[in-house]
Amino acid sequence: MVMNALPFFYGNVTREEAEDYLGQASTGNGTYLLRQSRNYLGGFALSVFHSGRCYHYTIEKEPNEMYAIAGGKSHKTPVDVIDYHSQEMDGLVCLLKKPCNRPRNMQPKIGAFDDLKEKLIREYVQQTWNLQGAALEQAIISQKPQLEKLISTTAHEKMPWFHGSITREACEPRLQNGSRVNGKFLIRQRDAKGSFALCLLHERQVMHYRIDRDRTGKLSIPDGKKFDTLWQLVEHYSYKPDGLLRVLTEPCPRPHGETGKKPANTNQTYKTNVSSLFLLREMVISPSEAMPMDTDVYNPYADPDELRSSTVDRNQLFLEDGELGSGNFGTVMRGIYKMKRSEKTVAVKILKNDDNDQSVRDEMLREANVMQQLDNPYIVRMIGICEAENLMLVMELAELGPLHKFLQKNKQTTIKNLTELVHQVSMGMKYLEEHNFVHRDLAARNVLLVTQHYAKISDFGLSKAIAEEKNYYKAKGHGKWPVKWYAPECINYFKFSSKSDVWSFGVLMWEAYSYGQKPYKGLKGNDVMQMIEGGRRMDAPVNCPPEMYDLMKTCWTYKANERPGFKVVEPRLREYYYDIAS
Ligand code: ATP
Repeated sequence: MVMNALPFFYGNVTREEAEDYLGQASTGNGTYLLRQSRNYLGGFALSVFHSGRCYHYTIEKEPNEMYAIAGGKSHKTPVDVIDYHSQEMDGLVCLLKKPCNRPRNMQPKIGAFDDLKEKLIREYVQQTWNLQGAALEQAIISQKPQLEKLISTTAHEKMPWFHGSITREACEPRLQNGSRVNGKFLIRQRDAKGSFALCLLHERQVMHYRIDRDRTGKLSIPDGKKFDTLWQLVEHYSYKPDGLLRVLTEPCPRPHGETGKKPANTNQTYKTNVSSLFLLREMVISPSEAMPMDTDVYNPYADPDELRSSTVDRNQLFLEDGELGSGNFGTVMRGIYKMKRSEKTVAVKILKNDDNDQSVRDEMLREANVMQQLDNPYIVRMIGICEAENLMLVMELAELGPLHKFLQKNKQTTIKNLTELVHQVSMGMKYLEEHNFVHRDLAARNVLLVTQHYAKISDFGLSKAIAEEKNYYKAKGHGKWPVKWYAPECINYFKFSSKSDVWSFGVLMWEAYSYGQKPYKGLKGNDVMQMIEGGRRMDAPVNCPPEMYDLMKTCWTYKANERPGFKVVEPRLREYYYDIAS
């Protein structure tokens, strides 16, 4: 559900504006509208007209991703909260009767901060992970909800009114300097525990208001309204005094050259800034929420001294005990690759020594050749080939292993988390599609996890580069194929394209939302083909969001030319992911 598409959602309007709209429309008791909360991140406010006045209720987003009016029943979406309260008063002043829709041509209002957010996120990602180009764009796309949360809670550092950790005495001359307009203000940090002070000029006197942080992390002036962030607090008191001597008017600018962050040693500016941002990050994001960019397999080629080569020297490769997995080619082991300046843990696919089998060797070299041409954060990268006692393919390590097995063991994984991972796979597949490669073996078993929040596509054993003008690959004959993942045209005409990968992606989605179950359980390949030809498809997994089941079914469009490509599938997943995550 996209909030902006709701006709009775007004975006970031104030309580007073909401009252105006309800007043203009005031047709009767129980008329309501929904708006963005101006003090709780991700929260909403419900304004209801009853007996000549308006009542406002905060719909908070709870830590378990559910929505509720404080103390009330929890629901999956704010719209479910509204539906519920149109049946049950349950503490409301009246039942919700009629939505008050936005005037024609009015879009939901965008807050001043929403505009700034995009720019701040970009800057932040660039600085924190030192990313550029495609790696930067992909990081922003895949982690947007987390980055927004992060930026929202740290953005005050960038605001001119935030003066960092200065004393009460030091702040007074700053406010008295230059313009002495009533309501001129700044915020300073009081201690490391996250308490601040709002300093306000009133009739040439500086007033200091404490801003405390409560146990749940919310900020407030004693007895005042609570906020998730400082910029929301400033936005609120800039439009109404609400207990202060007066409203905030003019931000008192920081002295030239000083930033709101900890004082930085000039020749170390970059490093200090980054670490101070990291400190703040740790305050708002728990380690389990580490992002793909935090791992060293996100952008391994950032260091120009460790440029990729396609061969690995056996002397630099150390194999460890214990298998990561195996297949008919041999085994996959964990190893350490020692480079000039650093070392990294790797996965090593070791071809079993079987001199008779030249074809397996050729197959592995073909796989290496494909992998070498790919460079994307959501695809397992090849580090190199090592020819020694055995032929070895050295790859990035994805420690948590195949997606289906992970999900079988971790049934508490949230829908949001599943969607995050599946969306990352679609980003990797979009890259393959753009570069004219077909994977031909896309399945949950071939998606490996680096962390619970970072998936990579692997196993390019069947993959092919396709001629641009042809856009499909024609297999010479039927092989040992994963039929349950194959589109009809693969089986009937041996034709493989990005569109047939999309079909497989639909099956992969089904596997993910069913927590690693086997698709078409109990059916033989032939039964599956008959089922598909007869127009039938798998049922939705239990508790699968309808939006995601719809997308699976779209991926299972019979005719390849009517089936969407990843160019369409990826943004659809992205939209749904942002919607449930932000
Ligand atoms: P076959 O070619 O016989 O079908 P396979 O294609 O399944 O075998 P892979 O998928 O490449 O072989 O690897 C087998 C297993 O090894 C995987 O299921 C996984 O558990 C493990 N593995 C492979 N590559 C990696 C990696 N980069 N990081 C971590 N584990 C890996």
